[in-house]
Amino acid sequence: MIIKIDCNQLLRRSCKKLNLCSVLKIGEFNKCKLLLNSSSIEDLLIYWYLSKINNNWTSIKINTNKLFEEVLSLSGMRLGIFGQKNKVISPKWCWLLRLMVCNHNIYICINTRLACCNIRKLVGLKEILSNKSWITGVRVAQSEFRKVNKTILWDTMHNSIKLSPILLWNINQIINCIVCNQLSYNSIQNIGFSSIGCSPCTRSIKHNEHSRSGRWWWESFNKTSSECGLHRY
Ligand code: SF4
Repeated sequence: MIIKIDCNQLLRRSCKKLNLCSVLKIGEFNKCKLLLNSSSIEDLLIYWYLSKINNNWTSIKINTNKLFEEVLSLSGMRLGIFGQKNKVISPKWCWLLRLMVCNHNIYICINTRLACCNIRKLVGLKEILSNKSWITGVRVAQSEFRKVNKTILWDTMHNSIKLSPILLWNINQIINCIVCNQLSYNSIQNIGFSSIGCSPCTRSIKHNEHSRSGRWWWESFNKTSSECGLHRY
């Protein structure tokens, strides 16, 4: 039986008091069985938490065919450790062919770049996430766009509930949890890749830069444009 939750009422009352476990419990009640796992430290942390609860969920990974080797090998390693159900989504070849035929250049402008994100990420995700509740590791500190996110949100793009259990966590909380529990993470994180996307679109950052400024850096970074389109409202 699906327990329906009045999300707005819940948010009004206690959004700030919800901790990671209680949000994941709400997800469990609502048959939320999908974790969108980009292999960021945030997603890896939730992956680990979920693994401690039960095995009734699936980790969704998007393989855009442009990922770093380190990300691919970490994903493979995690399969061995936790033995969870893992589903990899790849873009359809006919769409990739279309990008190739028109010599698609992601560096020309934001629209060409978003077209690539759409084909390599969003189209496949839409098929998987439509009408199904899902979990994500986004945090408000990551960008201006994410500040309007909610811990529990009705996702109009996919017609489903979207849970962001660590939305209000800061980066130190995440790192402490990763270190204390000796969780594996991407090795390139140690050399300045604080937010890891596709290899042509991610660079390392310096200490004084915003954590997502390495993503689509040529788009004269501002905190509102550094998105692929999935977490925009
Ligand atoms: S991040 Fe870059 S390579 Fe990856 S899908 Fe978006 S534009 Fe394409």
